[in-house]
Amino acid sequence: MSAPVIEKREGGCLCGAVRFTAGLTKREFGACHCEMCRRWTGSALLGMTVPEGNVDWVGEEHIASRQTSPWAMRAWCRECGSNLYYKVTIQNEWSGNVELPIGLFDDANGLTLANEIYIDHKPDSFAYAGEGRKLMTRQDCIEKFSLLGTA
Ligand SMILES: [Zn+2]
Ligand SMILES: [Zn+2]
Repeated sequence: MSAPVIEKREGGCLCGAVRFTAGLTKREFGACHCEMCRRWTGSALLGMTVPEGNVDWVGEEHIASRQTSPWAMRAWCRECGSNLYYKVTIQNEWSGNVELPIGLFDDANGLTLANEIYIDHKPDSFAYAGEGRKLMTRQDCIEKFSLLGTA
């Protein structure tokens, strides 16, 4: 049922206590400009959606996590604070995946920024280069990902 793995990439946190091998099903990733991702990352979350079962973690005991909204949790390395993943905890089309920040990959080249969500919440001081990406507003996301009644 899940898409075939086209490539495996290794990655890890800043201090190296947490490492992973991720089986990618595509080479596209997205940017999230929502207020929570902005605060969590300090900018925007540049995340690649990877089926949870495709990620093999090493040093899992160093991973801390927290339910950060009614529909999602975020995880980080408890030793160095690097953000490790975002995961939806309700049933919607994102369920069963983790969102891995592409900056964790040892080699983050050769990937395409394919979509930006909460584009209407992006700070006006910067914009990613290029065109042709799929853009979604906060309202688009609330409707598409069943986040009604939430932030
Ligand atoms: Zn670490
Ligand atoms: Zn976000």
